[in-house]
Amino acid sequence: QEVLNWASSFLKKQNREPKIAEILILHHLHFTKIDLLMALNQPIEVHVKDNFIRDIKEHAKTGIPVQHLTGEEFFFDRRFEVNHHVLIPRPETEELIVKALEVLIEEDPKRIVDAGTGSGVIAITLKKEAPDHWIEAGDISSDALQVAKRNAERLGADVRFFESDFLQKWIDAGEQVDMIVSNPPYIAKSDRPSLQDTVRDFDPELALFANDDGLACYRQIINQSQKALACGGYLIFEIGASQAKAIKQLIQAIYPGAQIEIIQDLLGRDRIIR
Ligand code: GLN
Repeated sequence: QEVLNWASSFLKKQNREPKIAEILILHHLHFTKIDLLMALNQPIEVHVKDNFIRDIKEHAKTGIPVQHLTGEEFFFDRRFEVNHHVLIPRPETEELIVKALEVLIEEDPKRIVDAGTGSGVIAITLKKEAPDHWIEAGDISSDALQVAKRNAERLGADVRFFESDFLQKWIDAGEQVDMIVSNPPYIAKSDRPSLQDTVRDFDPELALFANDDGLACYRQIINQSQKALACGGYLIFEIGASQAKAIKQLIQAIYPGAQIEIIQDLLGRDRIIR
């Protein structure tokens, strides 16, 4: 209790989130929350305490995300390995999963691609939640793909992974799919200075930023979809809160008759386009 209190107030004084102390102490003790509650008046081993305090200080100083210190993040109630080669999965992307699952259930697309899979969270979660669908995923980063493959293996998800610049592999193979899902990089480079250090200095640049006010990757995927998406197929993207109109226009320019739906996240911001 004493060590935890010290860490929480230290983080608070350094303008960091005090709850991180609890996440880190559980990690270092290999404890569940309940284990912790039952051991609050017990002594802590010196080496565990030292490692914990080292992490607390590093986080306070540099903003290193707690997920990089623990090597994990939970997404859709599953534990995923993460490291500095992949974007840390965000809760907004869980809302993308819910919408994508609705399409899977209502429209039954047979073959689905996650374009820019990173840690693999989207592809793997869709496979676990809708195991009868054929799911593939691509990423341009071979380092990210290694993380995604390990996650798929550990979670027992039969997803095929390919090194690919978004849909290029499917175009090169002359293949078409029925649904494309993606959470591509969408932050404008000019917004870099306004990002928190925990994001700016730690999530991979390749996963965060896109040219053209953050629209370049949507434009690329939509263009590629002309070859890679079967007639009558579905596109579903996570988007930045101010990008809905521009992305809608990109889609309409290529698919004039498309039915387009924009969906808000829990905070009421535009977050998904289908
Ligand atoms: N698809 C992955 C995710 O949603 C990676 C996204 C990215 O790197 N932009 O977490």
